[in-house]
Amino acid sequence: MTSTNNGTAPIIEAVDLTKTYMMGDVKVEALRGATFTVQHGEMLAIMGPSGSGKSTTMNLLGCLDSPTSGSYRLDGEDVAGLSEDQLADIRLRKIGFVFQSFNLLPRMSALEQVELPLMYAGALRRRARAREALDIVGLADRMNHAPVELSGGQQQRVAIARALVSQPRMLLADEPTGNLDTKSAAGIMDVIERLNQERGITIILVTHETTVAERARRVIRFLDGVIELDEVVDVDAARA
Ligand code: ADP
Repeated sequence: MTSTNNGTAPIIEAVDLTKTYMMGDVKVEALRGATFTVQHGEMLAIMGPSGSGKSTTMNLLGCLDSPTSGSYRLDGEDVAGLSEDQLADIRLRKIGFVFQSFNLLPRMSALEQVELPLMYAGALRRRARAREALDIVGLADRMNHAPVELSGGQQQRVAIARALVSQPRMLLADEPTGNLDTKSAAGIMDVIERLNQERGITIILVTHETTVAERARRVIRFLDGVIELDEVVDVDAARA
C-alpha cells in the first residue's frame, strides 16, 4: 500500500477508469474511461440516464468494486490491488454511504442503528457519539424510535447519522432523495449541504433531479459509460 497524502492530495483521483461486466459471452462496458479529480470539501452531483454508468462509478469510488482498468487514488492512497479486508478498512475509516432506500434495520431504535458502525469498528464512546450524530441531523428528539415510527425524511436522517458517526472524509449518496416527497427531499438536502459547508465533508451524490443537482457546486454527467460533461455550477444563478 502506498500512501503519499501530505494533506493536500485530492480526495479522489480517478484516471481512465473502466469497468467491463461479462454477461455470459456478452461484454457490457459499463464504464469506458472516466477521468476526474475531486478536491477535499467539494460537493458534486453525478447525473445521467439509466444505464450510463453512475452506479458503477459510485461502487468504484466507494471501494465496493474494483475497476477493470485505470487507477483510483482515494485520499492519496492507491486502492488498486488492495485485498477485500483492506478495502473494508478504508470504507470504514473514510467513507459514509447513504442509499435511496435508507437500509435501516426494522426493529432497532435510531440510536442503536447509528451505534452499529461504531460497534463493528470497536470504537469507544459509542452511545455518546451516536447521540451527537443524531443531533447533527436534527433528530435529537427521535432517538428511541424505530423506523416504522419515523417519516421517510426522518428515516433518511437516521441513515445519514449512521454514515456520519464514524467521521468519514467523504459521503457517497445514491439518490438520497429518490424516495421522498419534495419537502422532505429539500430537508435532506439542507442536512447534506450543512455537512459539506460546516464540516467540510466531501459529498458525491447521484440524482435524477435538477433541483437536487443545483444544490451541488459541480455536476458530472455520464452518457454511455463516459463523462459527457463536468461543470461547475453557478449556485447564485441556479437559485435566482
Ligand atoms: P446507472 O447507474 O447509470 O443506471 P449502471 O452503472 O448501473 O448505470 O450500469 C451501466 C451498465 O452496466 C448498464 O448497461 C448495466 O446494465 C450494466 N451493468 C451494471 N452492473 C452490472 C453487472 N453486475 N453485471 C452486468 N452488467 C451490469
